[in-house]
Amino acid sequence: MSYRNCFAIIVVCIALCASAHAGPIKALIVDGQNNHDWKGTTPMLKKQLEETGLFSVDVVTSPEKGKSMDGFNPQFSKYDVVVSNYTGDPWPERVKKALEDYVAGGGGLVIYHAANNAFADWKAYNEMIAVGGWGGRNEKHGPYIYWRDGKVVRDMEPGRGGSHGPQHEFVIVVREPNHPITRGLPEKFMHSSDELYCKLRGPAKNLTLLATAFSPKDKRGTGRHEPMLMTIAYGKGRVFHTAFGHGPKQLHSVAFIVTFQRGTEWAATGKVTQKLPKDFPGPDKPSMR
Ligand code: ZN
Repeated sequence: MSYRNCFAIIVVCIALCASAHAGPIKALIVDGQNNHDWKGTTPMLKKQLEETGLFSVDVVTSPEKGKSMDGFNPQFSKYDVVVSNYTGDPWPERVKKALEDYVAGGGGLVIYHAANNAFADWKAYNEMIAVGGWGGRNEKHGPYIYWRDGKVVRDMEPGRGGSHGPQHEFVIVVREPNHPITRGLPEKFMHSSDELYCKLRGPAKNLTLLATAFSPKDKRGTGRHEPMLMTIAYGKGRVFHTAFGHGPKQLHSVAFIVTFQRGTEWAATGKVTQKLPKDFPGPDKPSMR
């Protein structure tokens, strides 16, 4: 090879490397089946990402429940981060494999609320989300995860995975303040009236528990500090899991919006460049937009 050709190849390589980091973060929201109002929440999630000025967002919608998945072929690998707003029929093996390869290869994944109800029998998915609920989850799926005395408890007590009582306002408590997603957030901040998921369980490997909320027994809860915001390392990939945000009403809560925006940027890039907005709540009352 001549020096001239070699030089040309190096120039092209540098240009390709630079282009990989230029432009918006490419995000893909997956929806189409959910026992929640995905038609109401997906446009809100999309807008929340776009209004940061950091993301371009596409949406891929699966066939309806019970319909053939033959034509369902989300192109995960074209994106920096995939946001799941899906729980429903199992995906075909080729789609499952595509998501596993994408995340293991360094892709970002965001698990939003009921997406942690999905795919109870898909082993790799349970590893990606760390903990989940419903769908027949029990002690065979892994321990209950909660926070006690300054650390994560892995509780192998038998029982069903996933529960919640009536909606109420609750305080979210940061347990890992030195993570890019939580850095600079107040230690305690109030979320609007929402389902407080409890009894989530799963393999919980490579889990960092960022924030919890106390699940009161008088609201049909556990009396434990339940996981609300988590990150999971899966291969070279990064997963951000937010357990709250039941429907469109809850997606007006700044506690949801800001942690979702920051968590999605982190899942895509490993960094958070967003500043904390002035309307971020403290511990006393929720902030709504
Ligand atoms: Zn819900």
